Amino acid sequence: MARIAVASFRHETNTFAPHKATLTDFETGYSWPVLTRGADVLPAVKGYNLALAGFVERAAARGHAIAPLLFASANPSAQVTEAAYEAIVQMLFEELAALGPVDALYLALHGAMVAEHLDDGEGELLMRLRQKLGPRLPIVVTLDYHANMSVEALEMATAITGYRTYPHADMAATGARMADWLDGHLASGAPRPAAAFRQTPFLIPLFAGCTMREPAAEVVAAVARIEAETGVLLTFAGGFPAADIPDCGPSVYGYGSDAAAVRAAVDQVADLVEAHERDWGGAVLDPAAAVAIAIKAAEGALRPVVLADIQDNPGAGGTGDTMGLLRAMLDAGLTGAAAGLIFDPHVAMIAAKAGEGALISVALGGKHGVPGDKPLPGEFKVIATADGRMTGSGPLYKGARLDLAPTARLRLGGVDIVVVGKRVQAADQECFRHLGIEPAAMRFLALKSSAHFRGHFQPIAETIIDVAAPGAMAADPAALAFKRIRAGVRLSPAGAAMREQA
Ligand SMILES: [Zn+2]
Repeated sequence: MARIAVASFRHETNTFAPHKATLTDFETGYSWPVLTRGADVLPAVKGYNLALAGFVERAAARGHAIAPLLFASANPSAQVTEAAYEAIVQMLFEELAALGPVDALYLALHGAMVAEHLDDGEGELLMRLRQKLGPRLPIVVTLDYHANMSVEALEMATAITGYRTYPHADMAATGARMADWLDGHLASGAPRPAAAFRQTPFLIPLFAGCTMREPAAEVVAAVARIEAETGVLLTFAGGFPAADIPDCGPSVYGYGSDAAAVRAAVDQVADLVEAHERDWGGAVLDPAAAVAIAIKAAEGALRPVVLADIQDNPGAGGTGDTMGLLRAMLDAGLTGAAAGLIFDPHVAMIAAKAGEGALISVALGGKHGVPGDKPLPGEFKVIATADGRMTGSGPLYKGARLDLAPTARLRLGGVDIVVVGKRVQAADQECFRHLGIEPAAMRFLALKSSAHFRGHFQPIAETIIDVAAPGAMAADPAALAFKRIRAGVRLSPAGAAMREQA
């Protein structure tokens, strides 16, 4: 039996987004637990689809003692402030010092954290921990599928693995996989494994990295197959393409006892990713064109047509309040439509005060100065209001105790609009249901999300149309003003169609 310290510190940083992550953002609940320390961590994460929860459950089942340090997660946004990063790292070190000796450390990190003063939040954290704990103590890590992996992180850790799904249905499963690996490593008494790492010479657009579509599905299947065949702990990271740092982009990395085998496994997957370069794209339509196609697709359909507002994804730094797609739906006179989740706590509060049935004259959304966007003024009918608390039921948020307070269902024209007080992407049907909207019964659904929505909504959708309305998460990374990315990286995959005019 080993004594294993565990912690989680996660942020996905879109350096092009308008708002930074402060300590308050880590202390505020949204879809994941609030900042928690010490013994409170385990009950806070229990039952969630989180790598930390999956690791703890499996490691405990294998008879190990778990010593929790900290859980800290904030919504994706621009950089973590220097004050927030240093405060959380200090808490982690304080908790670690209070523990006394441990046999191993497990960290559930993201891999795409940028702080105001650091390009590589995870690499720096791992370096400080390695200095403190010495070269031999096993430090094992799980990262998000969207990690912008660095050689520093690779070398400071004993071993790292990452999610194999986007939507991230396997976060808890990834933690459990790492618990199994650590258990075997501790039992074997083997030295630190050899590592290999290869970055891809092009960025993959966020929506195109979804593993429910090709070529990502083929790549992650190959990763699992090669890992099973070779015993190399192997990961493909799609990268997070909205970070202006040298290490932005996809990568393949692996760990194992045989350096040549690790290198070969990493090269095999990286070759596959690169062979598909022109396939990492897809059609993305302007709002008016997308709505016109949606109207045709809905004729005679028994299931909703989904319009994915992929550039205003709060799960990737989007403000969650741009009005471009909603405006196009109203202009086209859509009926039987629902749209969400619009982040506008001020309007949600006004609706709550006015009460159900009231008419409120407000300017909805458009409050963050996103280029090409402006608020949508109108007289909205308040259909329902709620406290915004619910338990997620989709693959991503299953078991998560969501808090979107306050929330309101407003109607303008033929569109029911879900307005929320916390910035969360539209990835779970419960976010509509808690206000009396049954998503499967709608003719049209407009969802602010790049790909996570697919986990819960693709099974009920007639078809899905990717839309490029104003937002901080550019569908095509080449549209972003990169200055610091390493030389030679193609900002979008060569030959992949990214936008289409109809
Ligand atoms: Zn991710």
